[in-house]
Amino acid sequence: MTVKELLRDAWGIAKDIATGGFSLLNGHHVTMTNFWRPRVTEWYPREKRVPPPGFRGGFAQLWDAERDRPNCIACQLCARACPDNCIYIEGDDAKGKNKRPVVFDLDMAVCMFCGLCVEACPHNALTMTSEYEFSTADKGSLIVTLEQMIETGKRLGLTEVQRPPQVPAEAQATEEQA
Ligand code: SF4
Ligand code: SF4
Repeated sequence: MTVKELLRDAWGIAKDIATGGFSLLNGHHVTMTNFWRPRVTEWYPREKRVPPPGFRGGFAQLWDAERDRPNCIACQLCARACPDNCIYIEGDDAKGKNKRPVVFDLDMAVCMFCGLCVEACPHNALTMTSEYEFSTADKGSLIVTLEQMIETGKRLGLTEVQRPPQVPAEAQATEEQA
C-alpha cells in the first residue's frame, strides 16, 4: 500500500468518525431539548381523555321513568336514515306513540359513527355517548341490544340526546363568508 492510499483511508475513517460523532450529538441535542418540554401525548390507558360534548361514541337508549318504558316508539326512522344499514328494529303490536321496541340491535362493527340515526330520531330516544373503549377480537360482541343500550343510558344518567354544542351565529356567519 502506498503512502497516498494510506492517507486516503485515514481521511475516510476520520470523516466517518466525525459524521458519526456529529449525528450522535445532534440526536442527543434533540432528545434533551424535548425531554424538558411539557408532554403533548396522553398516557393511555392510565390517563383517559374526556371527549368533548357531542362526541360520537357508543350508543344508549333513553328511558322514560314516568311511563316506565323506553322513549323509543319503534318508528324505524333511525334505521332508514342509517347509510350502513346496521340497525334492526322490531316493534310490538301497539300503534303510534304507544308502540315499543321489542328488538333493537345495532351493529357497531359496521357502524361508521356518522350520527345520522341520532339526528333522525324524533323522540329523544337514541343517543351516542362519550364511551369509546370497545376494542375486541370478537366482532359479534359489537352488536348492541336494546337492553344494553337502555342499561348504558341509565348508568350514564342520560335524559337528553347528546348533541355537539351549537356554533354561535357570528362564527357561523364568518364561516359562510369565508
Ligand atoms: S352512526 Fe351512522 S352508521 Fe352508525 S348506526 Fe347511526 S346512522 Fe348508522
Ligand atoms: S330510536 Fe328514535 S328513530 Fe329509532 S325507532 Fe326509536 S324513536 Fe324511532
